[in-house]
Amino acid sequence: MTIRDIVYIPDPVLRQVCEPVPAVDDDVRALLDDMLATMYEAPGIGLAACQVGVLKRIVVIDVSKEDDPKAPICLVNPEITWTSEETSTYEEGCLSIPDYYEEVERPAACTVRFLDRDGKEQELSCEGLLATCVQHEVDHLNGVLFIDHISKLKRDRVVKKFTKAARRGEMPEFKRRRAAEPAGDSEQPAAE
Ligand SMILES: [Zn+2]
Repeated sequence: MTIRDIVYIPDPVLRQVCEPVPAVDDDVRALLDDMLATMYEAPGIGLAACQVGVLKRIVVIDVSKEDDPKAPICLVNPEITWTSEETSTYEEGCLSIPDYYEEVERPAACTVRFLDRDGKEQELSCEGLLATCVQHEVDHLNGVLFIDHISKLKRDRVVKKFTKAARRGEMPEFKRRRAAEPAGDSEQPAAE
């Protein structure tokens, strides 16, 4: 298992549409293991493959509480097949946009269909933090970031800040600081 480097905005890889995975083989399972290790290390509650620079439709999630046993979910080719009309608002964050949190309104519940790490088709009904996290991660596979759901003014401001930081070569600072913080591909107060 390898901890992979997380890609930050404004890296254009985060704006690409990821490719479906033809089969869940050992290479995919190795990537899933790396992604889980990377997510736990960050720490975060969700990670999409494009966030480690791999343009495949693969997501890992674990929204279990800190003191509870780990509950990793591996989603290959996830597809949201239903969303509720009812919405909820969470303060979201993202491992690719460290130290930045904003409230985002999304459907409160959703159903996601996917292949698990054995390549078996599964369907999961999600609500609460999990529903938000699944939608946040599936957005990533389509090149969409949570900041696309906030005002243009706020979005432009945060993109500018990260563009400047990248130019100055400051991004590793974010990673070191984040280790002490609760949230990541992220949700506050839990950690995505
Ligand atoms: Zn994210």
